[in-house]
Amino acid sequence: MMARLAPFPSASSEAASMRMKAVRRRDTPLELAVRSILHCHGLRYRVHVRPIGVFRRVADIVFRSEKVAVFVDGCFWHGCPSHGTLPVSNGEWWKSKIELNRVRDAETTLVLESAGWAVVRVWEHQAPGEAAASIEDLVRSRKR
Ligand SMILES: [Zn+2]
Repeated sequence: MMARLAPFPSASSEAASMRMKAVRRRDTPLELAVRSILHCHGLRYRVHVRPIGVFRRVADIVFRSEKVAVFVDGCFWHGCPSHGTLPVSNGEWWKSKIELNRVRDAETTLVLESAGWAVVRVWEHQAPGEAAASIEDLVRSRKR
């Protein structure tokens, strides 16, 4: 289904620092801030679970009964149009890596939407209040 990425070309210090960034992909400051606002506003959700059990993708914030899945996307890893800069060394490899992430994101959205879910993608550069407000509006509009 999806293309495979070649192994990283060299073990440079840059690669090591990128792996360190990868460790912080969950519970980022924005994600925690958004969750905190939603919780204060009385919304309840699951964190880091699969919206659909048989589909092996984990969403960051999941509202099961309203069928809303939220993904907080890192600007680097998901190729943000404003901040998606590529490392200078091994640039081609990083380009492929991030392109694969984007393809995977699009596929995830497509599969979830086909199953009746609403998908929200939040960039890590967005203001927490603004992101939380749009999620809250959507969740409340889908409450039965
Ligand atoms: Zn960004």
